Amino acid sequence: MKKGLLIILSGPSGVGKNCVRQEIMKDNKLNLVYSISMTTREKRDREVDGKDYYFVSDEEFEKNIKAGNFLEWANFVGHKYGTPKDRVEELRNQGKNVFLEIEINGARQVMESVKDDRVISIFLMPPSFKALENRIRKRQTESEEVIQERLQKGLKEMTMTDNYDHIVINDKITNAAQEIVDLIKAKLKKR
Ligand code: 5GP
Repeated sequence: MKKGLLIILSGPSGVGKNCVRQEIMKDNKLNLVYSISMTTREKRDREVDGKDYYFVSDEEFEKNIKAGNFLEWANFVGHKYGTPKDRVEELRNQGKNVFLEIEINGARQVMESVKDDRVISIFLMPPSFKALENRIRKRQTESEEVIQERLQKGLKEMTMTDNYDHIVINDKITNAAQEIVDLIKAKLKKR
C-alpha cells in the first residue's frame, strides 16, 4: 500500500484555515484525516477537547517534548503547539492522507525532518491585510492585545513563504478549498 500524503496547511492567524480545511474534508474521496494538535492555549468557548486540540498544561507539554513525542512543535504568541508524532506515522502507514494545520516554524521542521516525497505544503494567504484584520476581529475570540500580536506575527509569516510548494489566496472559502483539493488530487496521482 502506498504511504499516505502529509499535507501541511499554514497561514496567518485569522486567514480562515479552519473553514477551508472543513470544506476540504467534506470530500470523502480524498481519504483525509486531520491531525489533532496539542496546545497549552486556553480552550475557546466553541472548541472541544480531543476534537479541535488536546488542551494540556505547560508541564504536560514539556513532558511530551522530553519524551520525543512531537513531529514538530513551536511557540506561537505565548503558547506552545505541537503535532503528536506516532499518530501521523500510524495513519500514513495505513494509507490515510494526514492533514496538518500548523504555523510556519512547525511547518519548516516537518519539511526538514520528513524526507519522503509524499509531503505537500500550502500557505493560505488573505486577499489583503485589511481582510485579515477584519476576519480576526469578527471572530471575537481574542483580546485587543492578542489580536495585535497575532496580526504582527501574521505580517511576518506572510513574508516567509518561500519554502512552501503552493500559495493559495483565500478570497472565498469554497474557491480556496477547491484549489487545494485539486492540488491534493494532482499530488495523489503522482507515483
Ligand atoms: P490558534 O491558537 O489560533 O488555534 O492557533 C495559532 C496558530 O498555531 C495557528 O497558526 C495554527 O495553525 C497553529 N498551530 C495549531 N496547531 C499547531 C501545531 O501542532 N504545531 C504548530 N507548529 N502550529 C500549530
